[in-house]
Amino acid sequence: MYLTQGLHRGVQQRPDEVMTVFGQRRRTFTEVAERVARLAGALRGLGVGRGDRVAILAFNSDRYHEYLFAVPWADAVLNPVNIRWSAEEIAYCLRDSGTRVLFVDDAFAAMVPALREAVPELATVIHLGEGPGPEGSLGYEELIDGADPVDDVRRGGAELAGLFYTGGTTGSPKGVMLSHANLQVSWLGSAATGNLCPPGARVLHAAPLFHLAGLAAWGAAVLVTGSHVFIPAFEPVATLSAIAEHRITDALLVPTMIQLLVDHPALHRHDLGSMRNVLYGASPILQAVLERAMKAFPSARFTQAYGMTELSPVATLLGPDDHDRGFLRSAGRAGSHSEVRVVGPDGNPLPAGEVGEIAVRGGHVMQGYWNKPEETAAAIRDGWMHTGDGGYLDEEGYLYVVDRLKDMIVTGGENVYSAEVENALGRHPAVAQCAVIGVPDPDWGERVHAVVVLHPGETLTVEELRAHVKESIAGYKAPRSLEIVDGMPLSGAGKILKRELRAKHWSGEDRQIR
Ligand code: ATP
Ligand code: MG
Repeated sequence: MYLTQGLHRGVQQRPDEVMTVFGQRRRTFTEVAERVARLAGALRGLGVGRGDRVAILAFNSDRYHEYLFAVPWADAVLNPVNIRWSAEEIAYCLRDSGTRVLFVDDAFAAMVPALREAVPELATVIHLGEGPGPEGSLGYEELIDGADPVDDVRRGGAELAGLFYTGGTTGSPKGVMLSHANLQVSWLGSAATGNLCPPGARVLHAAPLFHLAGLAAWGAAVLVTGSHVFIPAFEPVATLSAIAEHRITDALLVPTMIQLLVDHPALHRHDLGSMRNVLYGASPILQAVLERAMKAFPSARFTQAYGMTELSPVATLLGPDDHDRGFLRSAGRAGSHSEVRVVGPDGNPLPAGEVGEIAVRGGHVMQGYWNKPEETAAAIRDGWMHTGDGGYLDEEGYLYVVDRLKDMIVTGGENVYSAEVENALGRHPAVAQCAVIGVPDPDWGERVHAVVVLHPGETLTVEELRAHVKESIAGYKAPRSLEIVDGMPLSGAGKILKRELRAKHWSGEDRQIR
């Protein structure tokens, strides 16, 4: 099992068909493989060898795709960097991973001098862009033109394939070590369980490739020797136009992207009838938004995935059949490659219906956190990855994710899980997006507080909101205070940063983490 397998298979089975589309540029499977062999040769020529980390800081493109193959082909380790990070965070990631070679595109060229200063180990910068690159950088096309092709090492298996930094949603990011087998197991298991990227797929990559969710959709498309269409980044109109223009069949979209699409005035001006599969996941979705999405893409079947970087990334899947029967609240069941349970504080499994920590086991569990043996030992116990997510299972093994344990609210001695409250809020017609957090309260310890983005022209009071949610959930879960905002602070992967929403309510350190 190695990451380049799908490329070799594509060359054998569909040599002259288009593998990548980016803007006006199209390349066949054979062309991509030839370029990758030479790019790998160039990396070798630069002294890159077994296990060396090679980073990339770039928007999505067909060149990102070539990087993803060339690095393992050359026996090295992928290190995709979060493009939403500050220069300081990026420097931290490069130093922490000990990267000596970095690919950058035009958008990040200006950051290179500062990165070079902060990361003395950084020996080589390769410029992916079109214009002149940053000082001292090598041009990507020149590098490929000037290099001889090398054979693919095809190492794979338990060998380290990549260092992937976690989203940084809850704290400082950690480097997750994933092997070739980890990634392939997750992708194959997801394909076997869900209906991801069937043969003939034309997959749109709108979600960032540095994030494991976007990378999983890429991997699924590689597995079925599908074609890949890249747009630099998600933007509603660009996404809708790309779907219509390229007759896209499959796409991974995270919930915030789906929400922006279903609310966009341009939605109905595009022919979305080519879509067969919408994959979504990586954060909780409001049921109301999911229902609108299923109407917006009537030809598509929907699959939800729950997982995390540490799980390469997929653990459970809610498949199209469940969506068809309107069963939308769960995150699905363990994929063919995985085993999922819910454990109490003592680490023992809890009976169905009881909320505890979600733990996952299987060949997709990471090798560990890079240079963090203590964190690794705390997370993986007896082979079970402890996710830090709260949830429960039903009698049929369907998983319900209720909250991150760190986000859980305790008000007047009662636990309140944000997903449930957010789903109730999300059903109010004025609400476009919402997040529920705990804020300090003299009477209740913590108070349930709602942060809401409204649809244009709408208004909402806390009384209206409370009356609305009390129709579906218990009174003590109803928010006692309301804050209306123009937009949510989002992570690089499009997740709502609750720690930022909470920060202004809690003085000094963030509240005690349970
Ligand atoms: P960090 O670990 O640095 O705080 P992060 O946890 O956001 O960042 P990821 O690995 O990208 O980094 O995200 C995994 C988390 O995303 C899960 O632990 C879970 O909380 C959330 N998540 C993923 N899929 C789903 C889903 N389908 N439903 C609800 N939550 C989800
Ligand atoms: Mg995490």
